[in-house]
Amino acid sequence: MARIVQKYGGTSVGDVERIKKVAERIKAIRDEGNELVVVVSARAGVTNELIARAKSVCENPSERELDQLLSIGEQETIALTAMALQGVGVAAVSYTGAQAGIVTDRSHTKARIHTIDPKSINRDLKAGKVVIVAGFQGINDEGQTTTLGRGGSDLTAIALAAALKADKCEIYTDVDGVYTADPRVVKTAKKLDEISYDEMLELASSGSKVMQSRSVEFAKKYGVVFEVRSSFNHNPGTIVKEEVAYMERVVVRGVAVDKDQAKVIVSNIVDKPGSAAKVFRCLADANIIVDMIVQNVGRHGVANLTFTVPQTDTHKAVKALEPALATIGGGQVAVHEHIAKLSVVGVGMKTHSGVAATLFQTLADAGINIELISTSEIKISIVIDQDRADEAARLAHAAFGLENL
Ligand code: ADP
Ligand code: ASP
Ligand code: MG
Repeated sequence: MARIVQKYGGTSVGDVERIKKVAERIKAIRDEGNELVVVVSARAGVTNELIARAKSVCENPSERELDQLLSIGEQETIALTAMALQGVGVAAVSYTGAQAGIVTDRSHTKARIHTIDPKSINRDLKAGKVVIVAGFQGINDEGQTTTLGRGGSDLTAIALAAALKADKCEIYTDVDGVYTADPRVVKTAKKLDEISYDEMLELASSGSKVMQSRSVEFAKKYGVVFEVRSSFNHNPGTIVKEEVAYMERVVVRGVAVDKDQAKVIVSNIVDKPGSAAKVFRCLADANIIVDMIVQNVGRHGVANLTFTVPQTDTHKAVKALEPALATIGGGQVAVHEHIAKLSVVGVGMKTHSGVAATLFQTLADAGINIELISTSEIKISIVIDQDRADEAARLAHAAFGLENL
């Protein structure tokens, strides 16, 4: 008997027929004598629909009310999944995040999990029930509903696997596993049998939405090995785990595109110690994640800062910057949303040179202009025009021979 945590994403529970299929799958694993905790997402599209509805009644809805609204998507699917299981004779009970004991910090729309009290889940597992938990949501110490950021059901599953000391954690989605690039964009993308936490983390934070990046961070921290696989077939998926020596032989393991970033240019700020600190402090205080940062050489006593933020936070960023710029003697803010970030990732970059040169040459040959560049030990990211992003991903994928991996 094993203790298994499974997560089914939005497409996997996209309608009642799919929910019944998921119930059959759960029943088969249950009938083998395993203990099962199942995290489900909202039906595909529901969270987006709810956000659109919120914006149709208020241009800038409060984050607390957004969390109240968005959490209902998952509450529909937990109840339906539990009912579908009961319908085929399996004892099952559904839990909201709060009922599952998932306590978060107080930040709405991207809360962090503080603790999980697994008492109730353990009691129901002991009683022989399959426990269905709403992904993407928790409760804070003030009793308010919170959500864990887009794609947050992945985090619910990984965190539960750690808290419940599960033997296995399986993330079921609509593709066979983690590929060398988004298989919907790059047709020649190859499924990877294994990938390291660090590579998965860089791909996820660079726009490969197959896993939420925070969930991978959590898995690495707590050593949760997990498998990403399809709920539409029984093919083996991709195992995500600690890096092993052979992984370094491959220089580039994947390409990711992120079209949800915006470029912010703050120009004509006074070039003196403390200016950049003030700019980024106000963004941090507004809980905005800044990614790539470039500062040009100051001339005539002024400098320009360019950086990227999530598109959903551009409004918030511009508002947060106004008072900060006033305290440092002014500056202008411009926003460009029609950009994309292209990243190539691989732990092998630590020990190989020439990756940047190959990437830049490939794009130069296609006449694609590079606006920003940033690098880490295992990643190179560039900002380019959004219209050319998919083409650039295919070109980079071919240039690094990923179809032969
Ligand atoms: P779920 O609803 O199951 O959480 P998501 O839509 O969040 O599913 O994530 C799965 C999608 O991620 C796939 O349909 C695929 O288009 C996309 N994707 C992007 N990059 C990759 C990649 N490198 N490997 C696999 N899928 C990827
Ligand atoms: N329903 C949430 C979203 O669409 C969480 C998830 O699917 O993981 O972001
Ligand atoms: Mg997802």
